[in-house]
Amino acid sequence: MKHKNITLAHGSGGKLTHELVRKLFLPCFNNTALSFLGDSAILNINGTKLAFTTDSYVVKPLFFPGGDIGRLAVSGTINDLAVVGAEPMFLSAGFIIEEGFDMALLEKIVKSMKETISFTGVDIVTGDTKVVERGGADGLYINTCGIGIVNDGINLSTSSIETGDKIIISGTIGDHGMAVLSERESLGFTPSIKSDCAPLSGMIKKILASGAHIKFMRDPTRGGLATTLNEIVNTQKYGIVIEEQAIPVNDGVRALCEILGYDPLYIANEGKVVIVVSAHDAVKVCNILKEDSLSKDAAIIGEVIPEPAGKVCLKTVIGGTRIIDMLVGDQLPRIC
Ligand code: MG
Repeated sequence: MKHKNITLAHGSGGKLTHELVRKLFLPCFNNTALSFLGDSAILNINGTKLAFTTDSYVVKPLFFPGGDIGRLAVSGTINDLAVVGAEPMFLSAGFIIEEGFDMALLEKIVKSMKETISFTGVDIVTGDTKVVERGGADGLYINTCGIGIVNDGINLSTSSIETGDKIIISGTIGDHGMAVLSERESLGFTPSIKSDCAPLSGMIKKILASGAHIKFMRDPTRGGLATTLNEIVNTQKYGIVIEEQAIPVNDGVRALCEILGYDPLYIANEGKVVIVVSAHDAVKVCNILKEDSLSKDAAIIGEVIPEPAGKVCLKTVIGGTRIIDMLVGDQLPRIC
């Protein structure tokens, strides 16, 4: 390990997070289910394929345009189940609360969790409450775990990805990260920027049921679209090329990124999915997505290519091509 101490970048979802996972957690815990490093682990129990996942939420501030830590905590875990092809069923909720936390705010956050799961068929069936002394935590952290069932015939894997497959993004990128940032910095002049934070299980169910040959899905959260695409091609015999012009970005997000010097490709999303689909079914999947309000801006943004293997290339608006890497460092800590 390069660093003697943990830095914020170890929690960014980018290069240092991957180093921590690959050099410490993976070799130490070493088992087949973990080795895939999927959004959820897939466990075969008496012939049933169970998806199992966990995530902790430390977003600051707790409330932001388009959501709050409660909505985020249930949506994120539901999405990690949905993108591996599972039907999300049960969640846990663990609350780590700082002494003195406002009871009315806690109530608001818990009600937001209830409202968010109310359309998903998911129940919170177990939980935990811990309180730490004043100063021992920053207000409130939430951990959620989730389990779901992967139905027969669904087998999503990077190993089934082939040259020529298309890459779809289900809508505009960077909305969540920029909404949290603008709220945190009280920028105020960007009312058009709202987090996309939402459970995507309903929308994903529709495309899985369409019979389209979907190869793989992942939600581009921390590290953004660029990091997720790099995770897909990492150590594989193929690469990915995406067209900058085809990638949907809201005007407000684009403007704020330009002013502050951020690249939307690296900004977190909490209500988007990257889909790798056979070329034959790409338009069909995109059209199904466009009918859902959560994915109305879905677009085919690129394709799988043989060379350069293991790399993600971006064709820029002005006609150049450059390699885009995983997120390095952490410009926006505590975004989720
Ligand atoms: Mg994920």
